[in-house]
Amino acid sequence: MPASQEFAVVVASWFDGERRHAVGPSTFIVRDGRVADIAAGDHSAALRGSGLAVQHGAFLMPGLVDAHVHLFLDGASTDLTARSAHLKQPLEGLLQAARDSARQSLACGVTLVRDAGDRHGINHQIRAEARLPGSAMAQVRSGGMGIKRAGRYGGFMAQDVQDAPSMREAVRALALDSDEIKLILTGIIDFDAGAVTDEPQFTLEETTELVASAAECGRKTFAHCSGAKGLAVAAAAGVGSIEHGFFMSADILRRMAEKNIAWTPTFSPLHFQWAHPEALGWSAQTVGNLRRILDQHAEHLAMATGLGVKLLLGTDAGSMGVAHGHAVVDEIARYLEAGLSLEQTLSAATFNARRHFGLAHATLAVGAPFNALLLAQDPWVQLDALRSTLQVWSGALEDAS
Ligand SMILES: [Zn+2]
Repeated sequence: MPASQEFAVVVASWFDGERRHAVGPSTFIVRDGRVADIAAGDHSAALRGSGLAVQHGAFLMPGLVDAHVHLFLDGASTDLTARSAHLKQPLEGLLQAARDSARQSLACGVTLVRDAGDRHGINHQIRAEARLPGSAMAQVRSGGMGIKRAGRYGGFMAQDVQDAPSMREAVRALALDSDEIKLILTGIIDFDAGAVTDEPQFTLEETTELVASAAECGRKTFAHCSGAKGLAVAAAAGVGSIEHGFFMSADILRRMAEKNIAWTPTFSPLHFQWAHPEALGWSAQTVGNLRRILDQHAEHLAMATGLGVKLLLGTDAGSMGVAHGHAVVDEIARYLEAGLSLEQTLSAATFNARRHFGLAHATLAVGAPFNALLLAQDPWVQLDALRSTLQVWSGALEDAS
């Protein structure tokens, strides 16, 4: 049994995951990796007198959560040839890339990521490695391999199913190791057309069955889904969360609010392609389509907030131009541009995900694991303070049981 570890952190203001506290300094006592006490005022003199180490900073908040990443992909790479060569390397190379992604995430203050799928199950292995003491990696909630219709989009992150028995069997097998079941419900956006042009991969009946099979195994689903047809299926089937969700509508958002379906809008990959059209050789017309899609997405994000849809902030890190860890602050900027408050945005990047994932402690509170970031400035004063954390404590987040 290691000796009791105790220290104090004194900050001018802080955010608990839902609310900012800025009425004066606060003193946090951390004992054995947990918040033992939060007291109003700066008690550093008395604590130092009793021999306790005291750390000072401007601002404390829960560790960030990126609710949609692909650890095995390198988002910083923007060269198409290099990206396709990356995917063809031996498994060990992809594993190393995933380790680097998890380390980079933590260094950026992202203490937890939800991996949205890879074909090799690399995310499961990194989840196990991240739990080892001293891993210096973000913890991983792993979607394992996703489920897709044979012959359709998603081969890099999902396995094929065809008929109802193979769907049930796939869900049961995946649920043994996957924290959530990833469904590839639609293809990707055709940017030249400015629309999702293919039919959903699964019917409403099939999707309802997949969601029910996952629930029987105690698992939520998260669905890759964009376009009106796919979104109607996802909302009616009651998936756990809709990922991406481009071409959203007020009607779908209302149904999501009623059924407590979360939304992870992932602005970052499209925003990169809009800002850097040369990377993919997009025409002026396609750039116009991207801008229109992003603007509509922002309008729907603001609408979702008004309707009470649960938002999970996710970047799709690993996509072209979306670097693990760093992208979270960019995604935060997209939420603010859409008119959300910083409190709503940081809740989506901390508390909402923890609660949606069923973790025992969703906020920074007495009794919670000390999973927190110390910043040199209050992000309400200077947003870029989020880009340079003074210190990250990655106290293990536990499932509620
Ligand atoms: Zn993704």
